[in-house]
Amino acid sequence: MQAERLSHSPADFSIDAEEQAQLALFRDTVRRFCAEQMAPCYAQWESDGLVPRELFNKLGDAGLLCVDVPEAYGGYGVPAQFSFAIVEELGYAGFTGFTGGLQVHNDIVPPYLVSFGTEAQKQRWLPGMVSGEIVTAIGMSEPNAGSDLANIKTSAQRTENGYLINGSKIFISNGQHADMLLLAAKTDKGAGARGTSLFLVDASLPGYSRGSNLAKVGHKCADTSELFFENLLVPHDALLGEEGAGFGMMMEKLARERMIIGVLAVGAARGALDWTIDYVQERQAFGAPLAKLQNTRFKLAEAHTRIMANTSFMQQCFAAYRNGQLTPEVAAAFKLYATEMQCEVIDECLQLFGGYGYMSEYPISRAWADARVQRIYGGTSEIMKEVVARSLVGK
Ligand SMILES: Cc1cc2nc3c(=O)[nH]c(=O)nc-3n(C[C@H](O)[C@H](O)[C@H](O)COP(=O)(O)OP(=O)(O)OC[C@H]3O[C@@H](n4cnc5c(N)ncnc54)[C@H](O)[C@@H]3O)c2cc1C
Repeated sequence: MQAERLSHSPADFSIDAEEQAQLALFRDTVRRFCAEQMAPCYAQWESDGLVPRELFNKLGDAGLLCVDVPEAYGGYGVPAQFSFAIVEELGYAGFTGFTGGLQVHNDIVPPYLVSFGTEAQKQRWLPGMVSGEIVTAIGMSEPNAGSDLANIKTSAQRTENGYLINGSKIFISNGQHADMLLLAAKTDKGAGARGTSLFLVDASLPGYSRGSNLAKVGHKCADTSELFFENLLVPHDALLGEEGAGFGMMMEKLARERMIIGVLAVGAARGALDWTIDYVQERQAFGAPLAKLQNTRFKLAEAHTRIMANTSFMQQCFAAYRNGQLTPEVAAAFKLYATEMQCEVIDECLQLFGGYGYMSEYPISRAWADARVQRIYGGTSEIMKEVVARSLVGK
């Protein structure tokens, strides 16, 4: 019933008719995976505070990891819309907490390797990322630098034997499970943003250690960790792209990261609305279903309209991404618009559940808690406004 309603959202005009048919079949695979492999276990993972590492292997076996990676590197070479559909479906099914980490592995790390990696780096990492043998994370944020990424302190000093890395990262999704970390570090402390470089760090090297998996308001099963690097020596060929080019690479790739957070917002809001539509038709007050009250009807109509508007914006972003024209400001505007919508719509939905909406047993309560961080990670709403404003009136 719910899956059918999601398919009633407008067709994706950013792909052709044949691809749309393939995408519809692919969505069925994702829904089956959600129903069979995730739904029965999700509450347990939430109480464990972590998804099992094997979930990535199962996702890989089902063909749901890094799907738009070229076939030459073990991927399926399908349009990125297939990868976006995974996020939308998992959000719709109420698995936002895990999806944050999944999108790091599927949508954030692979484009860096595909665009900037050497042939040897691609061959080393990408096939394992597709199969689930290798889990990845991205380490940008530090205890004293989140929005202000140019101010990171982790250093990578070039030596004869490789780069010597010292420092720490915080809030790193997949931090416990990751086998490879895409790390931002300073190779030239005096050069500001231009002193930032990126590294593909093998997490099994000596000097790499994991801190605790951080307890959170929502995303209870998500692996969000501190990482520490103490005299961690990585080989010279762990450098991704040119030394000092890291900030520019991050700015380029942040567009997809921000767009995909918006995609999760749209899926999660649609899922929450569909649960609410079911609930208000069953729940009685004053001798009639809640759905007969004008306030309820208007809230549902407003939520539906907002989700539809965001869906159209999302498809505009998909089309731009496919043509290589997704700009940072459009991605920022979409993240801002979609995540603010998600938080407000899910809050209104929870209100319609009354006291039951506040009970952990009801998925709407989890969706509400999980939504909140969407306005923070990947760049806060305030930073998104800055990015958009800069495109309008300059710095
Ligand atoms: C669950 C979770 C998962 C995460 N996963 C990752 C990950 O995988 N990898 C990673 O690198 N990071 C990750 N992060 C970090 C996340 O990207 C940062 O938390 C975020 O960018 C904000 O940085 P901060 O927390 O340092 O806040 P700060 O930068 O300290 O911001 C605090 C407040 O000040 C505001 N502010 C800051 N600068 C400005 C400005 N110029 N104008 C107006 N307002 C401003 C912010 O909007 C915010 O409201 C994750 C965070 C969470 C919570």
